Amino acid sequence: MYETIIVGAGIAGLTAGIYAARKKMNFICLSKDVGGQILESGRILNYPGIVQTTGYEFNELLREQAKFNNIPIHEGEEVTRIEKQSDRFKVISKKDEYNTKSIILATGARARKLNVPGETRLMNRGVTYCAICDGPLFAEKDVAIIGGGDSSLEAADFLLNIARKIYLITINQRLLAHEYLIELIANQENVEVITEANTTAILGEDLVESVEYEQHGQRKKTDVQGVFVQIGRIPNTEFLKGFVDLDEHKHIMIDCETDSSVKGVFAAGDCSSVHEYQYSIAAGQGCTALLKVAKFLHKAY
Ligand SMILES: Cc1cc2nc3c(=O)[nH]c(=O)nc-3n(C[C@H](O)[C@H](O)[C@H](O)COP(=O)(O)OP(=O)(O)OC[C@H]3O[C@@H](n4cnc5c(N)ncnc54)[C@H](O)[C@@H]3O)c2cc1C
Repeated sequence: MYETIIVGAGIAGLTAGIYAARKKMNFICLSKDVGGQILESGRILNYPGIVQTTGYEFNELLREQAKFNNIPIHEGEEVTRIEKQSDRFKVISKKDEYNTKSIILATGARARKLNVPGETRLMNRGVTYCAICDGPLFAEKDVAIIGGGDSSLEAADFLLNIARKIYLITINQRLLAHEYLIELIANQENVEVITEANTTAILGEDLVESVEYEQHGQRKKTDVQGVFVQIGRIPNTEFLKGFVDLDEHKHIMIDCETDSSVKGVFAAGDCSSVHEYQYSIAAGQGCTALLKVAKFLHKAY
């Protein structure tokens, strides 16, 4: 019987792990991999205390820190189901079953991909899924933002004073976002909205050079150095359906202290309903979740 089980070893789960280890808790961390989305990140320039690093280097540091703290990570272990059994939980993975008094869910999210030629090959070579993270790399460059909802307009807002020209490419007849965002973005001199355009390929040899789309039956191409894919993110919560409350986008619903709808179950990072998709936020939530677990175990709330 563990005191807690952390599911996921991205930055949220690893932060919870550091705090659990330092509290000498009886716990394990079950995860498909170590690092999560860090493994996909290129340059990282917005984590406090680290001026600049890469996803690879950052992950090596976190691995070292996990080792230093003796965090018991079961790497390569995917959790497929969780059951509540009176005052305990059974966590079922593809390899084994475990009993625990509490759980921290830190399973993260994945970007919805366009699934067009060139997208994977040119990832981190001009193709990106995070404007806040990578926007500054495109100063005075021409970029395309794929998508016409709130997240793509927020990305455009962030890039307005960074990029030279922004092409907003949406498959819909019009932008489908908050009116204030549309008003703010659509009339800017350096923004061109391209509607009813289905992105078909991202082209470039080593780096992104252009984006190709189909509009009104015609194939067109626009030269850009960056492509921001903003067509949504998918939280890794499929296995939790029916166990905890999920919001309309399938994020685990939590309050500001990381409590989920099930007592003793906490959630942190990109899988949670406080989904701002940033390292600092995920780390902070991982810390909060573990401190809440400690209080829960001592029946202090
Ligand atoms: C390309 C890219 C670049 C980014 N750049 C930046 C940046 O520069 N700055 C910034 O602040 N943010 C950046 N982000 C966002 C940042 O990566 C995320 O906000 C952060 O990594 C979320 O951490 P997490 O621990 O919540 O989730 P994740 O990193 O997604 O980790 C989730 C973990 O859970 C595991 N897992 C999932 N499902 C299961 C399961 N069923 N059983 C067991 N394990 C499971 C996964 O294997 C993984 O280890 C970037 C994201 C991407 C995709």
